[in-house]
Amino acid sequence: MTVAVPGSIAALPRVVGSALRVPVVGGARVQYANLDHAASAPCLEQVRDAVDELLPWYASVHRGAGFASQVSTKVYEQARASVRKFLGARQSDAVVFTRNTTDALNLLARSLPRHTSVVLFDTEHHAALLPWRGPNVHRIETPADASRAAGVLDAALSRTPVGPRLVVLSGASNVTGEVWPVAELAAVARRHGARIALDAAQLAPHRPIDVKALDVDYVAFSGHKIYAPLGAGVLVGRSDWLQAADPYLVGGGATARVTDHGDRLGVAWSAVPERHEAGSPNVVGVHALAVACEVLGRHWEQTEAHERELLGRLRAGLATVPGAHELSLFGPEHDRVGVVSFVVTGQDAGFLAAALSAEHGIGVRDGAFCAHVAVNRLTDGQRALRASLGLGSTAEHVDRFVAALRSLVAEGPKWRYAIQDGRWAPLEDDRALPPFLH
Ligand code: PLP
Repeated sequence: MTVAVPGSIAALPRVVGSALRVPVVGGARVQYANLDHAASAPCLEQVRDAVDELLPWYASVHRGAGFASQVSTKVYEQARASVRKFLGARQSDAVVFTRNTTDALNLLARSLPRHTSVVLFDTEHHAALLPWRGPNVHRIETPADASRAAGVLDAALSRTPVGPRLVVLSGASNVTGEVWPVAELAAVARRHGARIALDAAQLAPHRPIDVKALDVDYVAFSGHKIYAPLGAGVLVGRSDWLQAADPYLVGGGATARVTDHGDRLGVAWSAVPERHEAGSPNVVGVHALAVACEVLGRHWEQTEAHERELLGRLRAGLATVPGAHELSLFGPEHDRVGVVSFVVTGQDAGFLAAALSAEHGIGVRDGAFCAHVAVNRLTDGQRALRASLGLGSTAEHVDRFVAALRSLVAEGPKWRYAIQDGRWAPLEDDRALPPFLH
């Protein structure tokens, strides 16, 4: 189902849970203001409906002669086509389903030819920063101006030894939402004969991605950030390295044939993509991810307009909060998606996040967002707060968030809090968990 946006003829896809009410301390309930889309986005209603439709049918994939198995296999294989279309990927690109972006980038890291030089900026999310091992990993400092990124990358690639090279890059920062100049950096990579892997976890929910136009070799993203439930992600890209690599996981599905030679087993591995999809595939999760791709792909104009408007409102509101400082890699004017991190002078981010939730029913993220190098650099070691927008966000959520923050900063909390198990939490928390948890 879609819903008309007031003041426009466009329709925005609806999310499940938009009417969710959560308890606040003291006994009241309020509508939940989910400002944590960058962590996990709520499920689209169209995705929920598609999953409901599949549930009676789902069965084993690639393994059964039964009709439901054949349906499930078809659903699973069709999902590859939906993802390819969503990304404008090449027909020859492999589409490998994984658990999430982290899994996809680890798979790529395990599939690199020996002695591949990996070059990446140091402010990446840990999922893109950490999987690469060995002496040939070159971390370069993120420049303070995005226009210098190409030059810095060019210089770094010039210093890498002859041989395969991979540049790893985020589409958008999960800390600041700032969009990286992907096409420009891919062109630099090409001049050096390097491949480029795009961590699209934060870009894919907000902007269309065109693999061919950007000229990138690999893209990884997660279903749960594009409005499908958790559990499925994808790695899309050139199949040669993936085909030459040993399976990422070994087991059923990754094997074409296993023969018993007494003292050893002879194994012929499957071809890509099954080669890296050992075990029973997550057909429900993959279907959800594919339907989310299809829905988003039909609504970019509305999605971007909705987020642009709310992002402007959020940033203007934050500017009125005494002591609030927005974090930025490249400066406040740089293009960004609906993700804003900030610190408030003299305030603990964990405490503010706990009070926003407990007293106002607002969900934000606090800490260093699995990007410790970036956050530590931008905050001089403080923890930060992050508010992130998406299809489930409304102007009321943004306004309530800004008003709550202003009141917490100016007047302090209305409840008492303490650090419990390492996190700020309300004392005598009387918020009841939903009945299904009892
Ligand atoms: N890359 C970026 C930029 C992210 O923001 C995230 C998650 O927040 C990831 C990678 C990892 O995604 P996942 O936790 O779904 O593997």
